[in-house]
Amino acid sequence: MGELWSKMSRLYNRSASWSYPRNYGFYVSEVRGLFNDSLSCCVNSLLQSFSATTELLDILNKWNPSAGIKQSNIPLQLKNALLAMRDSSHPAPHRDLLKSLYHHAISRYTQQDADEIFHIILNLTQKQMPEPCLAQEIRSLYEIKVETQVKCSHCASIQRCPSSLFSLPLAIREGENTLESCIDSYFQLQNLADGEENYCNQCEKKQPSTHGQKLVSLPLIMCVHLKRFRNERGFTRKLFNKVTFPETFNTSVFAAAQSENVASDAPRADEHYSLYAVIVHIGFAMSGHYTAYVKQAQDQMWCYANDSYVKPATWADVQRTYKGDNTAYLLLYRKSWNSSG
Ligand SMILES: [Zn+2]
Repeated sequence: MGELWSKMSRLYNRSASWSYPRNYGFYVSEVRGLFNDSLSCCVNSLLQSFSATTELLDILNKWNPSAGIKQSNIPLQLKNALLAMRDSSHPAPHRDLLKSLYHHAISRYTQQDADEIFHIILNLTQKQMPEPCLAQEIRSLYEIKVETQVKCSHCASIQRCPSSLFSLPLAIREGENTLESCIDSYFQLQNLADGEENYCNQCEKKQPSTHGQKLVSLPLIMCVHLKRFRNERGFTRKLFNKVTFPETFNTSVFAAAQSENVASDAPRADEHYSLYAVIVHIGFAMSGHYTAYVKQAQDQMWCYANDSYVKPATWADVQRTYKGDNTAYLLLYRKSWNSSG
């Protein structure tokens, strides 16, 4: 099987337009296709994004798992799967990871929410990592630190509550949206008045207040979650509205979201983020399919991965996921320090 696999992979590499049998996985340069196992398209697409996040495997590679470690350990299986995705000689490099995920948290044969599975995999990876400093490194790689601030309109005192996120959950409005407009809305201050007043510790009574999220720090890898699924009266519906997003953007879009007590690791205005992976949802809320666009590290070319099927793609292809049936759901951006970086 291994021999057949590498032969077919070589064939496909020679001609990207070669038509392939559906049951075989292929790769384009750095990107390997993954078999769909028990409707694993959601995990498969996320694995493509984890594989494109070379920093994650760099952290996992610092760890030497002990001989007695359980085979269901998620960081072990994630490391094995990511290593196998760089090797063309095995047809199903992620089956043991899928088995471990099914064992811990995920149901087989069900439609998954990619943002939820993204959180489950990252949470389990850091919680089951036996080396605390590496667990922290994994956390820091993705962690967006925010602070909920409630400001009393009478005495101006501020109550702060820190929290952290693995993805920035951005609501989508009816009509057309841009990534910037979604970020603006997320960090917009809300007035708490007319029965919603907040108790102020300084004034020792309920007062009209403003409530909002403030940004404390952004990580190296920033995941943006476009909230396309809305629950209305017990039914989930998908929002097909247009959301444009840039291939690179400047952190000045977060300027209005900065915390009032700016932390030392707060984003600087000259930082840039570059898009390198997009998880795409195809179809409707209750029945759909996930695929991924990933940018290859070496030649910076886009690639499309639909389970075992992988083909070269362009930025124009990625832009077609702004709206409609095939819509971008998670965006992964990587920080670079200046416009040339
Ligand atoms: Zn007050």
